[in-house]
Amino acid sequence: MAVSAVVNVAADGATTNGGEAPLPAPSLEDAPAVELEGSALPPSTPPTPVRDVIIIGSGPAAHTAAIYAARAERQPLMFEGMLAAGVAAGGQLTTTTEVENFPGFPGGLSGPDLTDRFRAHSIAAGTEIITETVSAVDLAVRPFKVSTEWGGTYFAHSLIIATGATARRLDIPGTGETGPEAYWQQGVSACAVCDGAAPTFRDKPLAVIGGGDTAMEEALFLAKYGSSVTVVHRRDELRASKVMQRRALAHPKIRVAYSAGVAAAKGDGSLLKTIVLKDLKSGATTEQPCNGLFFAVGHVPNTTFLGGQVTLDADGYILTKPGTTRTSVDGVFAAGDVQDKQWRQAVTAAGSGCMAAMELEHFMATLGEQPEEEPVQELPVQSEATLHTLAPAHGH
Ligand code: FAD
Ligand code: NAP
Repeated sequence: MAVSAVVNVAADGATTNGGEAPLPAPSLEDAPAVELEGSALPPSTPPTPVRDVIIIGSGPAAHTAAIYAARAERQPLMFEGMLAAGVAAGGQLTTTTEVENFPGFPGGLSGPDLTDRFRAHSIAAGTEIITETVSAVDLAVRPFKVSTEWGGTYFAHSLIIATGATARRLDIPGTGETGPEAYWQQGVSACAVCDGAAPTFRDKPLAVIGGGDTAMEEALFLAKYGSSVTVVHRRDELRASKVMQRRALAHPKIRVAYSAGVAAAKGDGSLLKTIVLKDLKSGATTEQPCNGLFFAVGHVPNTTFLGGQVTLDADGYILTKPGTTRTSVDGVFAAGDVQDKQWRQAVTAAGSGCMAAMELEHFMATLGEQPEEEPVQELPVQSEATLHTLAPAHGH
């Protein structure tokens, strides 16, 4: 089976990213850490040329920001990630079959095709791309310091964070990765598009947990292979867009179990065979055959590497100032799903990437007005009240 992008949701709500492999040798020399002597605003001492902007991420937000920044002659450096948070470089769209709502492609195109085009456009505009995952940033020094998993250290006057979000997993008995009854990747997955075509799922009963667009899309995809697909949704109303709902509900192989949950996944010790469905209103449980169980229950933003240096909301999304991509740290901008839990579309991510690159221009102009030897002043971290608190996710 293919590698799926996942975030585990533990019983206590704690999350961990999965799938990141340790890899060798950086491409640039590491810089010694700067000793801080009580000052909150130390200058860093870069051994390599300081970039105007480093872009972290590789989805539509990152690439749009890169195209704009490159065209503004900022020579952007992008870290596209190496299976960062379990997602291939290119982001979430790499896990989808057809994208039918991105302007300019009336016939639709595959997610990987679209992300390849984004990447080619960025490079053509003049972006330098490094296939590494950023492991940490230091936002208390100027220029900002960016460290990668392979040990590289880089410096930039400004940063655009566009690291997106990763699929969430539920902590259901039998869906784990270890133990005698652990069917993760033995029938349980968080990416139907990655795993759904496997022979073990052919002409077998399958299930998807979730009621959003991803759940509908995954159910439709799985219906091509399985004998039936049960969509298990915790409420009595789907969250998915009307068009996606209509398609799924019209499919003869798809049925929805409303106000239901999966209480357990069971198997023969090596492969998933059944799920225990629970009616969340009556509490009644029923066991039904199921050879493939797919999570489609939303995403967790990829912000761990920031180490709490920019203000996040309670769910870990970066908070931006209203109507802007500015974060709580001057010179650090955030674009795409990492700061947006409401719209989460390729085109909205791209739009905010454009905003970030244009706001960056204003920031760089301000920077240019400061005396060379004086370190750039850091804005005090804003209180959450002054930042843009996004509305809870809802269907659209
Ligand atoms: P993402 O696409 O999330 O990409 C960010 C990427 O940055 C990561 O995936 C990773 O590769 C990289 N990264 C993460 N952390 C690091 C790090 N520390 N260092 C370096 N790199 C890092 N939207 C639509 O408009 N139309 C659709 O048809 C559609 N279909 C979808 C189907 C599926 C299955 C899913 C999951 C989503 C779909 N969406 C669709 C939503 C759309 O994919 C997202 O809104 C969009 O991709 C968000 O873009 P982004 O730029 O914020 O980041
Ligand atoms: P989503 O819209 O957040 O939906 C997540 C679903 O999982 C919701 O139905 C939610 O239930 C359910 N869920 C969350 N936590 C759960 C839990 N603990 N137990 C049981 N169920 C739980 O996420 P998404 O479907 O991945 O979509 C994300 C974004 O990508 C959306 O903006 C979507 O429009 C976009 N997208 C678009 C397309 C497309 O246009 N073709 C395809 C895929 C995704 P509730 O409804 O009760 O909250």
